[in-house]
Amino acid sequence: MTADRNVTEPIAEAGTSRTVADIAIVGGGLAGSLAAAVLAQAGHRIALIDKRAVYPDEFRVEKIGGHQLAMLRKLGFLDALDKVACRYDQVLNIRESKVVDVSVGQAYGFPYADLVAMARSQMPDPSGLIVDEVTAVSCSDDVQHLELASGRQVTARLVVLAAGMAGALAYKLGIRRRVLAERHSVSFGFTIVRQDGRPFDFEALTCYGERTADGIDYLSLFPVRVGMRANLFMFRDPTDPIMRELRREPEATLLRLLPGLRPYLGDFRVVDRVQNWVMDLTVVEGHLQPGVVLIGDAFQTNCPAAGTGVARLLVDVDRLCTEYAPRWLMTAGMGQEKISQFYSDRDKIAADQQSLKMARFRQALTSRNDIGWDVRRRLHFLRRSLTHRVDQMHPGWLGRVRGALRA
Ligand SMILES: Cc1cc2nc3c(=O)[nH]c(=O)nc-3n(C[C@H](O)[C@H](O)[C@H](O)COP(=O)(O)OP(=O)(O)OC[C@H]3O[C@@H](n4cnc5c(N)ncnc54)[C@H](O)[C@@H]3O)c2cc1C
Repeated sequence: MTADRNVTEPIAEAGTSRTVADIAIVGGGLAGSLAAAVLAQAGHRIALIDKRAVYPDEFRVEKIGGHQLAMLRKLGFLDALDKVACRYDQVLNIRESKVVDVSVGQAYGFPYADLVAMARSQMPDPSGLIVDEVTAVSCSDDVQHLELASGRQVTARLVVLAAGMAGALAYKLGIRRRVLAERHSVSFGFTIVRQDGRPFDFEALTCYGERTADGIDYLSLFPVRVGMRANLFMFRDPTDPIMRELRREPEATLLRLLPGLRPYLGDFRVVDRVQNWVMDLTVVEGHLQPGVVLIGDAFQTNCPAAGTGVARLLVDVDRLCTEYAPRWLMTAGMGQEKISQFYSDRDKIAADQQSLKMARFRQALTSRNDIGWDVRRRLHFLRRSLTHRVDQMHPGWLGRVRGALRA
C-alpha cells in the first residue's frame, strides 16, 4: 500500500539485484514515460524499464495540437512541452494549389525522442528509470515478477505493459495481436529547408492528395528546430516502386505527386534521412489477466494519418494513472476484477473505437473511387472551403450560414 510509505523511489534491495516497486512499467516510450511521471509525482514507487537510455531517432508522432494539448495540460506536461517543442498557431490547408481553409489553434512540432525525453524528465527521481530489457514477466492476483536481461529482478504489485508494437512479452503471457488491417498505411518523415536559406512563407501547411490513384491522404509541413518537418501519409501498396522513388528522390517525387505544392515551396531540399513506416492496424486479445495492464500501442496500433495514437495513449494514461491504479493499490490483491475496470472504462473504449473509425474514414476518403465516396470527398472539401470563405466575411451577420455549412 502506498499510504504509509515515506519514500517514493523504487527500493533496490541491498546486496541483491532485486528492485521492489508498487508499479513496474515495461517500456519508456511516450505512454510508459508519461505514466511513470504521473504515478511517481503522485507518490507511488515506480520502476520504469526501457532497453534504451535515450529514445532513438525513430519516426513516430511529431506534432500535436487541439484536444491532445488539453489532456497534456490536465496531466501537467504542457509547460515542459512548450520548452522543448516548436510552437505554431496557424496551418494553411491546400488542395490542387488552392486554399481549402486555415486551421487556427496552438500546436507543437518536435522529434519524438524529445517528446519522450520531456516525459521522462518529469519523473521526480531519475533513478526510477532502469535501462535494461525485460525478458520475462509472470503475473498473479498478488505479486508480479519481472526478469531483466542483466539478471536483475523486479517485483511489483502491478505491471504496466507499454512496450509499443513489440509483442514478445505479451505473447509470452498468452496475449495475441489480432490484425484488423494489414499494411493499412505508409508514412514518410523528413525535414526540408529552402534552397535560398530563407524561411517558408507559411507557419505550417497541409497539402491534400489530388488523385485517388496516388493514395495520398496528405502531406503535413510544420516547424521543428532544424527546419520544416514533413509527414506524408499514404494508403498505397508498400511494395509500389513509388516508395523507393520517395526515398531516393524525395523532392522531385513529392512535386510529381502533389504538383499544387510547387508555388508554396519554391526550391527546397531534404536535409536528413527519409524515414518510412508501414503500419498494420492491430488490437490485442486475451489481455484481461491479473496483475498486468496494457496501454498505448501495446494495446492497439493506430493509423498515423488519423492522428489518434497520442489521443488514445493520453486517455490510457489519464484513466489508469489518475483513477484506477491509485485506487487498486489501496487494497490488497491485483485480480482480474480490478484490471477489467480499466478495460471497460467508457472514455478508453470510446478513444480506441474512434481511432479505428478514423483510420477507416481516412483510407476511404483518400482512395475509394466509387461514386458515393467521390461525392463525399467533393462535399468534404467544398464544405470546408465554403465555411472558410464565410468565416472571412463579416463576422456578425453570417453566423447562421456558417452553422448550416458546418452541420
Ligand atoms: C510513422 C508514425 C507516425 C505517427 N504519427 C502520429 C501522429 O501524427 N499523431 C498521433 O497521434 N500518433 C501518431 N503515431 C502514433 C504514435 O506515435 C504512437 O501511438 C505512440 O508513439 C506510441 O507510444 P508507446 O509508448 O505506446 O510506444 P513506443 O513509443 O513504441 O514505446 C515502446 C517502448 O518500449 C520499449 N520496449 C519494448 N520492449 C521492451 C522490453 N522487452 N524491455 C524494455 N523495454 C522495451 C522500447 O524500447 C520503447 O521505448 C505515429 C506512429 C508512427 C509509427
